[in-house]
Amino acid sequence: MSAPVIIWFRRDLRLQDNLALEAALKSGAAVIPLFIFDPNILNSRRISSVRLKFMLSALESLDGSLRAYGRRLLVRHGEALPTLQNLIEQSGATALYFNTDYTPFAIQRDAAVSEALSIGVHTYHDRLMMPPGSVMTNDDTPYSVYSPFKRKWREKRDERLHIAQYTISAEKLHDLEGLQNDGLPDLHALGHSSTVDVPQTSAEYVSSLLDRWVDERIYGYKDGRDMLGDPHTAPLSATSFFSPYIRFGILSTRTIYWHCREAYENATDKAGRESVTKFVDEIIWHEFYTHVLWHHPHVVDHNFNEKYDAIQWRHAPDMLAAWQNGMTGYPIVDAAMRQLNATGWMHNRARMVVASFLTKDLLIDWREGELYFMRRLLDGDLANNNGGWQWAAGTGTDAQPYFRIFNPLSQSQKFDPTGAYIRAWIPELRDVADRFIHEPHNAATPPNNYPAPIVDHQLARQAALQMFEAAKKSEVN
Ligand SMILES: Cc1cc2nc3c(=O)[nH]c(=O)nc-3n(C[C@H](O)[C@H](O)[C@H](O)COP(=O)(O)OP(=O)(O)OC[C@H]3O[C@@H](n4cnc5c(N)ncnc54)[C@H](O)[C@@H]3O)c2cc1C
Repeated sequence: MSAPVIIWFRRDLRLQDNLALEAALKSGAAVIPLFIFDPNILNSRRISSVRLKFMLSALESLDGSLRAYGRRLLVRHGEALPTLQNLIEQSGATALYFNTDYTPFAIQRDAAVSEALSIGVHTYHDRLMMPPGSVMTNDDTPYSVYSPFKRKWREKRDERLHIAQYTISAEKLHDLEGLQNDGLPDLHALGHSSTVDVPQTSAEYVSSLLDRWVDERIYGYKDGRDMLGDPHTAPLSATSFFSPYIRFGILSTRTIYWHCREAYENATDKAGRESVTKFVDEIIWHEFYTHVLWHHPHVVDHNFNEKYDAIQWRHAPDMLAAWQNGMTGYPIVDAAMRQLNATGWMHNRARMVVASFLTKDLLIDWREGELYFMRRLLDGDLANNNGGWQWAAGTGTDAQPYFRIFNPLSQSQKFDPTGAYIRAWIPELRDVADRFIHEPHNAATPPNNYPAPIVDHQLARQAALQMFEAAKKSEVN
């Protein structure tokens, strides 16, 4: 057999529409499909047991898809560079292919790999439709506001939206003979455990999820996306639930995009077309925040807007714990946090509500919430999560202004009008009458196993405004 090449899977755990895989297959050499469990990632502070469980399932599915060709995924444990060097030496591989990842850790790791290896290293912009640097202002500076970014993105998109085209066969894939394969570990072997049932990851399932979305559900997106949803279908409310699949590249955003273009053509009315457009706008948020992280890596641990560095966030471990455990006495906040803890997922509207509550009602640093989310979310994504948190805290790009503070009561009344979402996640409130479901402490006999509100929203709002104004003043002085 002639010298092979390696495709290194990272956040692109799929065989379809994968640009690095396309190039590796087209090289004509036998392709070694590789995944590396890197201790630097496994030991990171943002690691999440539930996300790891989901990723293991995705890797099993990837291995399953390769088995259909009579081949396997090669799994190794170790730091990326020595692991790659070792495999290159053992296999005689002449080239390495992978798709670019845009986090600060990945950028550094990949630069070190590219520099140290003596074989050809080929990288592709597959994770984003428009890579960082390709959507810039007319002055060639990065955008820090979403709407003009979106307009430019839409202007430039078609130049590069190529869907990967290839066929896979056993002959094109290396048989891994003579190569040690560590195999996929179970969650416990990685030092983690999780009782959360993670969603399915097989290629067939993901494809059916996408089909059902673009054939039918997408047309209800614009009107339904903010509603917290019927609990019996949650988390499949009116949103796509694609985020965990996009997080690990199980589903390609290019594929989603082209299916949306078809859905747009197939729409029978203006409302349908608007719904598709709105959905694509959300995918562009993902591109926007990834660009922000790439251009401004300091946002990982710092305010995007340095003006707010002087904020004196409150140190309140008991309140933080109440928020984390869904025991704040604000049903909408508690339902959302319990949904997160039980399923690893939370609706976008609820994410905004709980993030606003932590930062503006409890006056706790957004970094506490960001970290907690990363440790719990199936879709935990450094760029999106950081962007969402800094938006809610008012410290980020295009953030909501600090003086616009969500009122948890009106958010609850508006987006969960029947209280179905609250009742689904807070059993203590199941029997509370409809008119008290958003503020059960006001009922004639409040439920005795559910806490009273831990803060008064109106007082907290005033304190938040003062806190932000003081920070702004100290920046001026
Ligand atoms: C505080 C906070 C934290 C968040 N953390 C994450 C995170 O860790 N990972 C994550 O993927 N999203 C995050 N989001 C964004 C958003 O809440 C989720 O992407 C969305 O809820 C996922 O559900 P869906 O796939 O059904 O979304 P849909 O509404 O169906 O949207 C489709 C896709 O568009 C993208 N998208 C939608 N909204 C946003 C957004 N506001 N920002 C960036 N991309 C978006 C996602 O890739 C999503 O899968 C966060 C938002 C907030 C306010």
